[in-house]
Amino acid sequence: MNYQQRQKRFWHPMSSAAAGHTTPTVVIAQGDGNYVVDVEGHRMLDGVGGLWNVNVGHNRPEVKAAIARQMDVLSYYQTFDGVAHPLVYDLADRLCAMFEQEDMQRVMFGSGGSDACETALKMARQYWVAAGEPSRTKFLSLRNGYHGVHMGGTSVGGNGVYHYNHGPLLPGCILLDTPWLYRNPWDCEDAEELVAHCIRQLEDTIAFHGPQTIAAFIAEPVQGAGGLIVPPATYWRRVRDVCDRNGILLIADEVVTGFGRTGCMLGSRGWGVAPDILCLAKGISAGYVPLGATMYNRRIAEAIEHGSGFSHMVMHGYTYSGHPLACAASLAVLDIVESEDLPGNAGRVGQHLLEQLQPLEQQFETVGDVRGKGLMLALDLVTDKASRTPLNPMEGFAARVADAARRRGVLVRAIANKVVMSPPLTLKLEEADMMALALREALHECC
Ligand code: PMP
Repeated sequence: MNYQQRQKRFWHPMSSAAAGHTTPTVVIAQGDGNYVVDVEGHRMLDGVGGLWNVNVGHNRPEVKAAIARQMDVLSYYQTFDGVAHPLVYDLADRLCAMFEQEDMQRVMFGSGGSDACETALKMARQYWVAAGEPSRTKFLSLRNGYHGVHMGGTSVGGNGVYHYNHGPLLPGCILLDTPWLYRNPWDCEDAEELVAHCIRQLEDTIAFHGPQTIAAFIAEPVQGAGGLIVPPATYWRRVRDVCDRNGILLIADEVVTGFGRTGCMLGSRGWGVAPDILCLAKGISAGYVPLGATMYNRRIAEAIEHGSGFSHMVMHGYTYSGHPLACAASLAVLDIVESEDLPGNAGRVGQHLLEQLQPLEQQFETVGDVRGKGLMLALDLVTDKASRTPLNPMEGFAARVADAARRRGVLVRAIANKVVMSPPLTLKLEEADMMALALREALHECC
């Protein structure tokens, strides 16, 4: 079987249709716990966790059994007005109980993270229609942020590469600078000073546009795809405070950070903040069946349910909202997440992995920064340490490092000038050591 030939039929997401891929495509045939096996029989530690999502590991018998049981009973029914199946209610109850601390009262389902974000943006606008302030339509978001690829999520995304070919995008989407200590427009290296800069910019921007025009602020508790950026600890609390003072809804895009990846059940909970809306996907079903969810707190639930005119009508939803197989998978996955305390494991093993990777900063001139929280980590590769200039992604250095790690039995992911890790949250300490060793050797080979 010639996969390089067969690849021509298929446009890989996030790749060049003209150039193809610079390193060999890895074709995965099997999954087994924290490992995968490619079509040539090479067994590799899955340091990417599928795509930040296989949080409980591959091929878990409990999850497969739950899906098979549901498949035997009912593989599909819809959940539009007046119709349901039992598991969609079970999962809605389960999620509201898990996020009771955030006062989450209602949930809507979709098939992934882009659905979750698009739903959040639309329902934030509906909230303001129901609350009697329909002029609040604009969205604030962060540079480097990633909120999926639907039109709204693309519009609030903070990376031009997702904009160039798809405009014109949604009007009224306003980007703010990211609270990023390693690279920021103020060249600021002090966490509290940086937070002060960002909050001043946020307040100035709200004042310029007028709070009465702004619906919501959307951001990831730790930015994933856009660069693995961990904000200073006080940032989210200060943002919550500014949103509250201006009536603005706070949407946490927890598609990656939800269900334990940062070491806490929610990334926002880890920052001590309760958002108004949660975007969930990935870890909610750990990749076994596509699923996304958007959750709303009491403020939103009550306003929409008491909305006058048409504003209580939820004219949004998908054929696959609450798919029975996805609900079955999710309930089994959440049992594992809670019973095995995967957020706790992610915190412990993630900290250990970070400590193992940090010396690379001293050992290699190209490793400018090593950062992460829980089991989301990255090496930021630079031309030189002093200027912190990112290595040109077109030269493919990060991809070559990832390929060299793969040949040593560890899958990691190259994104632009970064090598990114997001392994299953079931990762063991010795497997974290394997990842660090493979990366050290890979860097030796490529430098
Ligand atoms: N939001 C965030 C923070 C994400 O990381 C992603 C995907 N990586 C999405 C939204 C979109 O999710 P999906 O690819 O499932 O549509």
